[in-house]
Amino acid sequence: MMGRLKNFELTDNNEDADVIIVNTCGFIDAAKEESLNTVLSLHEARKEDSLLVMAGCLSERYQEELMEQIPEVDIFTGVGDYERIDELLQEKKSRFSDEVYLIDGAERVVTGSTYHAYIKLSEGCNQTCSFCAIPSFKGKLHSRNLDSIAKEVESLVAKGYWDFSFVSQDSSSFLRDQNVKDGLSLLMQRIELIEGVKSARILYLYPSTTTMSLLKNIAKSKIFHNYFDMPIQHVNDDMLRIMKRGFGKEKTLELLDFMRSLPNSFVRTSFIVGHPHETQEMFDEMCEFAANFGFDRVNVFAYSDEETTSAYEMENKISDEVKAERAEILGNIVAEATKKSLQKEVGQMRQIVIDGESDEHEYLLSARELLWAPEIDGEIYVNDRSVDTDLEFGKIYNAKITELVGNILTATVDNVAE
Ligand code: SF4
Repeated sequence: MMGRLKNFELTDNNEDADVIIVNTCGFIDAAKEESLNTVLSLHEARKEDSLLVMAGCLSERYQEELMEQIPEVDIFTGVGDYERIDELLQEKKSRFSDEVYLIDGAERVVTGSTYHAYIKLSEGCNQTCSFCAIPSFKGKLHSRNLDSIAKEVESLVAKGYWDFSFVSQDSSSFLRDQNVKDGLSLLMQRIELIEGVKSARILYLYPSTTTMSLLKNIAKSKIFHNYFDMPIQHVNDDMLRIMKRGFGKEKTLELLDFMRSLPNSFVRTSFIVGHPHETQEMFDEMCEFAANFGFDRVNVFAYSDEETTSAYEMENKISDEVKAERAEILGNIVAEATKKSLQKEVGQMRQIVIDGESDEHEYLLSARELLWAPEIDGEIYVNDRSVDTDLEFGKIYNAKITELVGNILTATVDNVAE
């Protein structure tokens, strides 16, 4: 959308904006609420004659209801018309095309970073997870071809970008819709050939399409980090079956153990608590596992009852009180696990990237480990340096991690890593 609106000037001030576009999420209750609150609060303070646009998954999923119930919004569009946003603004018309948009050759305008960009691998998903409504509005898996992805990365490298996170709803199934089984390994080979790409990671591996050979290829790669983001959602065997996750406990653990055994690996997952039929014993098993496995980061979600999913039709729903209680208990456990993971960093030499001044204090610079996904895995404060040069933003440095203060690591920069 930003690529199509290059003749507009960007502003952070919604009172100034002629056009406000909210790209919404419609995955679970919490995301829907956040999206709606954002739309309504932006409407409150916008200037007269401005256009308020609601785009993305939430408006795709509930197009009719929203168009009827939110007259504050001027233009509604879903997930199929991003490249026509300029036309929609001109015509002041809502539009919902049937297909799901996948970039192919269009120019990217990246905000938020001068060196890192997300790259979309595919849209849609062929899995049938019991709790997930995504396939109902994003459709079946549709992968981009390798040439299209490589061209996009090359054009971003030409603009100075060198760190990439590859994303989709189910990244480990990339190219399986075109009968290619090891699509991600092919992608890695291709990206590694692009001069100027220094760092890359893949987000959202799905257990049953993640192969050992893929993990070994990631481990061998000089560009792709040993960064493993595989949402497992539960660990109890019966619950994994009820959730229709494809893999049971044993095979899921085999993958996780292998990821954990690799040098400098980073393992991230997510869990859902309170799925229909989840017993206290199943929940306890998940808590014990989360406490002991040694995850670096974990997201905890309370089950959200979504129409069009198979879990929606299930009996034995768990009450909101129990769901909230379980989310809190597991949340505390994973907070401890994160703390342990951060504590292990203290005393280590790590490659870090400095992003800018921190919000905390002008003398503290905000950085992250190069391995980590930007804005997802945390922040490091650089509070000292043993080199006598000015530190540059967006550059890789070797740094010693010195302390853990609350949930934030501090570091002393040693030298430039490039
Ligand atoms: S893998 Fe499962 S949870 Fe993820 S998008 Fe597909 S159906 Fe949804």
